[in-house]
Amino acid sequence: MMNLTDIRTVKSVLMRYGFHFSKKLGQNFLVDPTVCPRIAEMGGARPGHAILEIGPGIGTLTQQLALRAERVTAVELDKRLFPILEETVGEFENLHILHGDILEQSIPELLEQEFGDMSISVCANLPYYITTPILMHLLESGVDFESITVMVQKEVAEKLQARVGTRQAGAITVAVQYYGTVELLFSVPSRSFLPPPNVESAVIQIRVGRRYAQQTKDPKHFFRMVRNGFSQRRKMLVNVISTTMGYSKEMLIAALHELELSEKVRIEQLSMEQLVGLSNLLCETDPT
Ligand code: SAM
Repeated sequence: MMNLTDIRTVKSVLMRYGFHFSKKLGQNFLVDPTVCPRIAEMGGARPGHAILEIGPGIGTLTQQLALRAERVTAVELDKRLFPILEETVGEFENLHILHGDILEQSIPELLEQEFGDMSISVCANLPYYITTPILMHLLESGVDFESITVMVQKEVAEKLQARVGTRQAGAITVAVQYYGTVELLFSVPSRSFLPPPNVESAVIQIRVGRRYAQQTKDPKHFFRMVRNGFSQRRKMLVNVISTTMGYSKEMLIAALHELELSEKVRIEQLSMEQLVGLSNLLCETDPT
């Protein structure tokens, strides 16, 4: 097996194929020998289990996944990487590499076709320019992944695992935690990548669960309320939601009181349960 964390080997492969990194596609390849085995192991790659990888690059993480999992499917957008991947990971019979944009794939259809009814996890070193769209695409697909273990910018990792109801949390925190629990597994310095990105990185794990989805009467209303509320998060919730969604202030105050909340509360102070409770109280009333 080729040592894809040896800088000299990597540089010589890239040179042979005349490959130049695309900044636009978020191409920072892992060259730290400790990181990929950790992602593969903590991400659940094991016999009997399937892994979806997004953006295999030259195959550094892919190797570690294919060594451990029953089956691995990797989706890569950059066609130039395919001849390289043929050389670096072509030997793995349990690996299938597909060309495409992950955001344009129907995730349930792709997984059905690739893995049938196997249990599945996602492992990836994500292209940072589309971290949020990819996470939402996976979570909104309705697929019950065992877990989603991904490298993201450290700042994003901290935001995603912040407690909803604190200043550190944002609309994206609520959106992701609606679908599961988030844990920051470990930090990764920029020197672990070739070329090194300008930001620090961290690996997070999302354990998918439907707890809040089951409690929410109208998910569309819930997400609309969260988006509107967080667009002016420092203002009083009553003012923001009455302006953006058309509810009367009296009605909003009554709903807040029912949830034993002050009428002066800001949306960023509400816990996940309180946000779901508020949306459930409001969604059945047409504000117009
Ligand atoms: N997994 C490799 C590693 O860890 O060394 C490469 C990770 S690199 C941060 C991100 C990879 O995602 C690149 O190979 C890039 O070409 C690919 N990529 C970018 N946008 C994509 C998209 N929309 N769909 C699928 N792959 C994409």
